[in-house]
Amino acid sequence: MSKGTITKVSGPLVIADGMRDANMYDVVRVSDERLIGEIIEMHEDRASIQVYEETSGLGTGTAVESTGEPLSVELGPGLITTIYDGIQRPLESIMAQTGNNLKRGIEVPSLNREKKWHFVPKVAEGDTVVPGDIIGTVQETEVVEHRIMVPPRSKGGVIKSIKEGDFTVTETVAVLDNGEEIQLMQKWPVRVGRPYARKLDPTIPLVTGQRVVDALFPLAKGGCAAIPGPFGSGKTVTQHQLAKWADAEIVVYIGCGERGNEMTDVLLEFPELIDPHTGKSLMERTVLIANTSDMPVAAREASVYTGITIAEYFRDMGYSVALMADSTSRWAEALREMSGRLEEMPGEEGYPAYLGSRIAQFYERAGRVISLGSDEREGALSAIGAVSPPGGDISEPVSQATLRIVKVYWGLDAALAYKRHFPAINWLTSYSLYADKLGKWFNAEVAEDWTALRTKMMTLLSEEAELDEIVKMVGMDALSDPDRLKMEAARSIREDFLHQVAFDPVDTYSSPKKMHYMMTLVVNFYERSADALSKGASIKDIIDLPVREAIGRFKYIKEEEIDAEFEKIDARLNSELADALNKEEDY
Ligand code: ADP
Repeated sequence: MSKGTITKVSGPLVIADGMRDANMYDVVRVSDERLIGEIIEMHEDRASIQVYEETSGLGTGTAVESTGEPLSVELGPGLITTIYDGIQRPLESIMAQTGNNLKRGIEVPSLNREKKWHFVPKVAEGDTVVPGDIIGTVQETEVVEHRIMVPPRSKGGVIKSIKEGDFTVTETVAVLDNGEEIQLMQKWPVRVGRPYARKLDPTIPLVTGQRVVDALFPLAKGGCAAIPGPFGSGKTVTQHQLAKWADAEIVVYIGCGERGNEMTDVLLEFPELIDPHTGKSLMERTVLIANTSDMPVAAREASVYTGITIAEYFRDMGYSVALMADSTSRWAEALREMSGRLEEMPGEEGYPAYLGSRIAQFYERAGRVISLGSDEREGALSAIGAVSPPGGDISEPVSQATLRIVKVYWGLDAALAYKRHFPAINWLTSYSLYADKLGKWFNAEVAEDWTALRTKMMTLLSEEAELDEIVKMVGMDALSDPDRLKMEAARSIREDFLHQVAFDPVDTYSSPKKMHYMMTLVVNFYERSADALSKGASIKDIIDLPVREAIGRFKYIKEEEIDAEFEKIDARLNSELADALNKEEDY
């Protein structure tokens, strides 16, 4: 362990000499207050240390000691429901000890050391295990079974002893023939991705029940998405909807510190959310990482790594994990601040030149994988990063670097939110590069015309945008009847299909099957009306068809009743269009 002395303090950055034996990314303890820091640059015996706590009062000559270990997280039972800060300190236990203001240098273990967990072995003495194998389970919360795995860096071997019982995270639950002891807890350095056997193609959607997402801009399990968040555009509601409804067993939410008190809002809001699948608090399957306002910016930098490492760990167990980071722009600003203090050559807008590669490294840790271990289990880590470009202008470096990596962009739009169109995801600017691959899944698993319907809806929406320009100049009356019909059909797609009220008990979630019925209804309305129009029906009668009201209300039909309701509406559409045609013939 290397001991040095401070030669310079610049905000969260501390320079120390005499650190020749320390390593890059070692955790160091600064002064006798034992503030936590991490070495982020080494030049011979001079270390640049990013300190995760307030550095005021530190001066030159103060002692610094390297722990010889990289910044690591503790992984084991007790993660779920806990709210951590950026370096995995449990906020509640800290506050219980020191009150609302974090005391500097406080040491509280990330996982409770006293609590006993009931461990049930899944392997027996004499069984051979390899890294990644599940040796037993702990029921961590009512909804999450925590699978205890042989750590990745273990050598594996034959189980010499293993027993059922109640254990703390540091007690040995199994011993291998080579003497290696396995506990409920393992540690992992946050800046290193956890190993897996192999990566799989992102061919399965992360079904979210949000129609604009699943039908138009789907995210793959193991994929990455970015969502910008202009104020009041519904970013929070959208994230909550994804956390509640996406088919992920585990949610990891990283708050990198938003404007003002938002982080405290998250701390208050998230525990209030009810998990629709269980009726219990969503926290029963959530790990929350929050940077409180009294933590310096450097902690934001660590928080995304802490979060993604925890998410990887649950993926290793074979779970589908959804990770949300809000906002990655705040994280990038922390990088910029440290880079500035290190006097590095600035890149675009003062961000370091390695901004793009850091963002890429983060998102590359997402993915659908086969985990280590002999049972070939599959897990997925899907990452959704919010970006908050100043002024909403996504041409700035953080948005651009993010968009180069992620394959899905949900363009939240303040103008749509202003018109109360929710979710305010703009269908003209958003995209999903998984749409083709995932379309095959929807065609096979839901309905074979899924992608055909999607294409028809997208075409009508973009035609509407063009026609809108004409209407603005010369008015609706100048449009031909077929174009008027297109405008009506696009309006129906927007209002009857895309618009989805998060707070309505039925509309809040649509199954893919229900979505398919709705897509069929709105597209059938267009195609059959176009046919009737060409055969002489009047555009006015078509626009006024009473069945359109029923199409618009389909979103509020409960899942149990959708089959019957769909048949009814579809038949009505046919008969009302026939009536409209007959009416013309009667004249
Ligand atoms: P932001 O976090 O972007 O500032 P919010 O998520 O708090 O915005 O949304 C602002 C308001 O917009 C919400 O209080 C709610 O009334 C409305 N809203 C947003 N999304 C939806 C939705 N999917 N359904 C219904 N209302 C929504």
